[in-house]
Amino acid sequence: LFFLVMPLGGALQAYTQLQAGLGALERIEEILTLPAETDHDTGAAGVPVGGPAVEFDQVGFSYENGDPVLRDVSFTVPYGTRTALVGPSGAGKSTLLSLVERFYELESGQLRVAGRDVRDQPRDELRSHLGYVEQEAPVLAGTLRDNLLLASPSATDAQMADVLAAVNLTDLIDRTPLGLDAQVGEGGVLLSGGERQRLAIARTLLSAPPILLLDEPTSNLDARNEAALRQAISAVAENRTLIVVAHRLSTVVDSDQIVVLEHGKVVAVGRHAELLESSPLYRELAAHQFLVAADS
Ligand code: ADP
Ligand code: MG
Repeated sequence: LFFLVMPLGGALQAYTQLQAGLGALERIEEILTLPAETDHDTGAAGVPVGGPAVEFDQVGFSYENGDPVLRDVSFTVPYGTRTALVGPSGAGKSTLLSLVERFYELESGQLRVAGRDVRDQPRDELRSHLGYVEQEAPVLAGTLRDNLLLASPSATDAQMADVLAAVNLTDLIDRTPLGLDAQVGEGGVLLSGGERQRLAIARTLLSAPPILLLDEPTSNLDARNEAALRQAISAVAENRTLIVVAHRLSTVVDSDQIVVLEHGKVVAVGRHAELLESSPLYRELAAHQFLVAADS
């Protein structure tokens, strides 16, 4: 869907137009203008483990002229932990992630990232704390290198090889003699949906944000891609704060905290074993492996 076969500069422009057509121009602009982020000191050693990374405090939200999409949502995500958001399609999971990135303004309540209200932080500063991997992870035309360097222009070949290994994509470099300089897409290295999302995760790993927001694909992946995605998420989660909209039992079970959403409200919070006991909705979602219905 997001493949564009043309030189990178033109691709960025066309890609922006494509996204505008999908109503997401602002988001893409923000992503493309992210700072390099290679210089902040909040890596593994510097992360204040245990303090609040993201705090939802009675958050209410609706899209323009629409019904409320989120109502009175409160939960806290401590640094260094993994939170899974689960719930039926349309419950508001993806919307929650977009509010953290401040793609939209809250209607009520407060949302704090790194201890500060998102409204009090310049966007660049806010985004320096965050990495965001969308459900339909876009891949640009151009080379593997172009794709990886998008948010971290100064990354070295060795760093790129490392992040590709972390997401189980080392073989991409070996598919053609050109390695990182191979084109992706038609006439170059072809990527499956699972590989596209892992490439997007690798790109995010390069910019090393302390807090990662990940919207897992809903589509069924084959066993090999499924295992690779699980491994990539583990790599990402290490020493980092992860909020993941989860559609895989394997992503959910290991989470420190699971937030169950229904019709925009938090109906349960806990760990897997607790929620199996206490939440009928959670039991039902788990029985369907959280792949309940095609998501929007
Ligand atoms: P989930 O990710 O849990 O499936 P979403 O956050 O995508 O749910 O959607 C929550 C609700 O908000 C749905 O009713 C959906 O139709 C609506 N919605 C999502 N995105 C938009 C948008 N850009 N404009 C208007 N309504 C939207
Ligand atoms: Mg969604």
